[in-house]
Amino acid sequence: MKTLNKIPKKEPKMLIGIVMPEDRQLEIDIKINGSDFLITLDKNEMIPFHQEISIRQLKNGLFVNDTHCNEIYIQSQSRKISNNIYLNPIKAGRGFHWQKSIPIQVLGDIRISSFESFLFVVNTIYLEDYLMCVATSEMSGKCPKALLEAQTIAARSWILAAEEKKHKHLGLDACNDDCCQRYQGITNLNKESIKAANNTRGRVLVHNEIICDARYSKSCGGITEDNNNVWDMNQKPYLCSVYDGKASKEYDVSNDISFRKWLLDETSSYCSPNFIAEKNLDKFLGNVDKKGNYYRWSISYDNNELISLIFEKTGKKFKTIINLKTTKRGKSGRVLSLDIIGVLNDNTNFTLAIESEYEMRRILHPEFLYSSAFTIESNSEHNNNTNRFTLKGAGWGHGVGLCQIGALGMALDGEKTEEILLHYYQSSRLRNLYE
Ligand SMILES: [Zn+2]
Ligand SMILES: [Zn+2]
Repeated sequence: MKTLNKIPKKEPKMLIGIVMPEDRQLEIDIKINGSDFLITLDKNEMIPFHQEISIRQLKNGLFVNDTHCNEIYIQSQSRKISNNIYLNPIKAGRGFHWQKSIPIQVLGDIRISSFESFLFVVNTIYLEDYLMCVATSEMSGKCPKALLEAQTIAARSWILAAEEKKHKHLGLDACNDDCCQRYQGITNLNKESIKAANNTRGRVLVHNEIICDARYSKSCGGITEDNNNVWDMNQKPYLCSVYDGKASKEYDVSNDISFRKWLLDETSSYCSPNFIAEKNLDKFLGNVDKKGNYYRWSISYDNNELISLIFEKTGKKFKTIINLKTTKRGKSGRVLSLDIIGVLNDNTNFTLAIESEYEMRRILHPEFLYSSAFTIESNSEHNNNTNRFTLKGAGWGHGVGLCQIGALGMALDGEKTEEILLHYYQSSRLRNLYE
């Protein structure tokens, strides 16, 4: 596992969780493609070479075909793409309603063990092999070269910076899904994505000789957000808010009225349909995305729907909701704090304050709200439960760092890899870490 602020001098290997304990998975089928593998059971014991292995977690332990063991380790002896391991099923879109199970093929080693009575599968893989897969799992291989290279350098920087480390307790550098970086093995690899990894081999973004924690999201909605407005962390100069368009521009998104006007008027940002029509996005986006309007969206709830949503998410039961009032916005217009004002069952007035971007998105949608850059329109007639609240918003994701659709817009507009990266990660620079 990578340690914080340590700069590697040669290509490191990464530990990626591909079946996580939270998946509560009990079975997996594995097929070995190629012959350069070493298979060990419980560290020493060699088992006869099997092409197809079926692994089951039963009450009394792990079973490989019919042999009981604690751990199976499949070690790849070659970096050839034809030497790979097929695993089925693997979760994609974990925790979202578009979650599905897909088969994947991976390079590198696979270690299967149990964690709290569920399967735990870890892929140990060379960083560059991992990155060529991430580029086409995050965005499709049909994307322009500059976008794939920019995405690859951002992904390399993010994982090497190792600041987020969401699965540290499992000893992992990352999981295989959107929670970290989307990684679906070699399935969607093509010449372009392999080239993007090779062309940028070892290259990262640095700031003051420290590798940048280069975060990214699907669409900023027109302006990126300061990192410290989204996460509880210090402000990073290279993760500061930027207008996602060609020239710098005056705008005001600080209050409801100016933000609403900006939502309607702003059409010149790189992630807007002016640079790339939403109907053409399908071709460029990765596999399991929910189809949606990324740049501008809206969602509407009547009073009862909102009451049950808030009850389900927070345990607070309102009788009626009178108003949703934004009390603070970030630089991109993202709502940083919001008051839910209503009346409880005992007829007392109550205000529920939501204080973070994450909570905002968690509470205001059955799954997760597309972004926290929204304005609220209510047709409150004040006749109890009949008013509707419509959230009109911008962007998809946290909006910090590189905007993937904006970067695609820039690449289609002819901008080069470095120009894209330095637009989003201002005051950073590129550096090669290893050959
Ligand atoms: Zn993760
Ligand atoms: Zn954008």
